[in-house]
Amino acid sequence: MNFETTKNFASQLDNNDSLAHFRDKFWIPTLNSISKNTNSSNEKGKEKVVYFCGNSLGLQPKTTKAYIEQELEDWKNLGVEGHFHGKNPWLSYHKLLTNQTAKIVGAKPIEVVVMNNLTVNLHLLMVSFYRPNQKRFKILMEGGAFPSDQYAIESQVKFHGFSPDDAIVEMMPRKNENSEGEETLRTEDILKKIEELGDELALVMFGGVNYYTGQFFDLEKITQAAHKVGATAGFDLAHAAGNVPLKLHDWKVDFATWCSYKYLNSGAGGTSGVFINEKYADDDSLPRFAGWWGHDEKDRFKMKKGFIPMRGAEGWQLSNAQILPMAVHKASLDIFEEAGFENLRQKSEQLTVYMEFLIENFNKEQSKIKIKIITPKNKLERGCQLSLVFDKEGKKYHETLTKRGVISDWREPNVIRIAPIPLYNSFMDCYRFYEILKEIAV
Ligand SMILES: *Cc1c(COP(=O)(O)O)cnc(C)c1O
Repeated sequence: MNFETTKNFASQLDNNDSLAHFRDKFWIPTLNSISKNTNSSNEKGKEKVVYFCGNSLGLQPKTTKAYIEQELEDWKNLGVEGHFHGKNPWLSYHKLLTNQTAKIVGAKPIEVVVMNNLTVNLHLLMVSFYRPNQKRFKILMEGGAFPSDQYAIESQVKFHGFSPDDAIVEMMPRKNENSEGEETLRTEDILKKIEELGDELALVMFGGVNYYTGQFFDLEKITQAAHKVGATAGFDLAHAAGNVPLKLHDWKVDFATWCSYKYLNSGAGGTSGVFINEKYADDDSLPRFAGWWGHDEKDRFKMKKGFIPMRGAEGWQLSNAQILPMAVHKASLDIFEEAGFENLRQKSEQLTVYMEFLIENFNKEQSKIKIKIITPKNKLERGCQLSLVFDKEGKKYHETLTKRGVISDWREPNVIRIAPIPLYNSFMDCYRFYEILKEIAV
């Protein structure tokens, strides 16, 4: 499609958007509420912000409150009986999330469960899937991974008595002869590195979409390459789940985990999901840290000795389900279901291409600032996020953007991340960002 840089054109795109009405299902903050400027006579302040931070914390669905209230009511009226006689009995509450979760990550229901928080799950999964020996002990990860992943991996390596310097291999982008670096990784380089590491490689542990650059890695090829050398492939999908199409089962990924509060709009510190490939569903030989909720549900309450795991991902559960965070998650999953992930992805691609087009035009139309987009241009290699590097004073421009009602985030050392989210961002949001950029570039 040929885009235009007019406001009219942005409206037209919104008018033609069959998902546009989903925006009304979310609470979108106003400038007043965000800047604590409670002067409600300030008309400008009542405008909704341009919220481009759904990659960090998704917005609240208007239905969320009712989902929580349902569980509070059952607790109020039924007490412990809510486990059995609540509208959504708590005993099996987590199962309410399974089918929708499986769809979002491209899994079979037996392969997923919602539980705990992301970093906790990373550890639990590494307990089972990082089992180094003297010969095969290395972990390959992307350089500049999210710090929690770095700490988790480093501590796992040490836990097994290895030194992080020997055991952790970080993939960095290429540099040319003039030491000018590329911004993102080339798939061919990742595959080559896996082959090189060969029988020393125990685990490939990558983010699905890198939080800083927005690069979506080729998880299928990475998994294939890992398996070819006898290693395991696991992914942190914090920035991928609900953002990019995933087919974890078909890609034969061994394990994955993600959080629910970014693209999945399930509230700060919200619950997490895990994927464990079906081939491990009955594999009792895998070491795991066990708890009663992973025990065979038929005799979970017999309170007997001897752990017998549930089949599949549920066998990795430790504790009884966190009902309130899960209720919040359910509200959002129901919206995803209603919108249909393929429709969302289609709009997402268009939104991001449009945003990119506006930024490229901004660069042409003025000479004060040049914005470089370091996220891959190929739509197969990215989700909705664009990572922007300003040629000067990026941090200052980020602050100005915030004051003007564009909520994006600044990530050290020099990136502004913007993520137009197909569920609640409009084409007009992108256009407003472009207009504001032009106004502040003086
Ligand atoms: C957001 C994010 C986290 C955060 O971990 P929590 O355990 O949910 O606090 C970890 N890893 C990655 C890659 C993330 O993007």
